[in-house]
Amino acid sequence: MVIGIKADPVAIVAEVCDPEIPYLSIVDLGIVRSIEPNGQLVTVTITPTYSGCPAMEFIRSNIIEALEAEGFEAIVRTVFDPPWTTDDISARGRDLLASNGIAPPERPEAVVCPRCQSASPRTVSEFGSTACKALMVCSSCGEPFDLFKQLR
Ligand SMILES: [Zn+2]
Repeated sequence: MVIGIKADPVAIVAEVCDPEIPYLSIVDLGIVRSIEPNGQLVTVTITPTYSGCPAMEFIRSNIIEALEAEGFEAIVRTVFDPPWTTDDISARGRDLLASNGIAPPERPEAVVCPRCQSASPRTVSEFGSTACKALMVCSSCGEPFDLFKQLR
């Protein structure tokens, strides 16, 4: 690292990914509320996707590690209000989810199969590969897929 030139803390945080969805950055996931640099100290405010989501502790320490690796000190604040909703996922995030076979979160009546676009999937389990997702199966092509739970 060149002395005197600091990496952009916003760019560093944007590199941190959800451990459960490693191709999706936490910024695209929409859980980063603010990134406030103040000299060496960066305060990052995040909102959990799901109150019991164990991934949040990993995300918190990943943010701190990523910033400390670039010479910053980091504080991660967690706020629950306003709550995260799946509407906070960016358009890019939705595209990434869809191209990886996870149904982008929609209103339950609007869920379509990410493979054949059939609009008749049914819920197999409220808990898919992680507690944050439900396991669905398509009534048309028979493929199972994960659905992000709609949180409101
Ligand atoms: Zn299908």
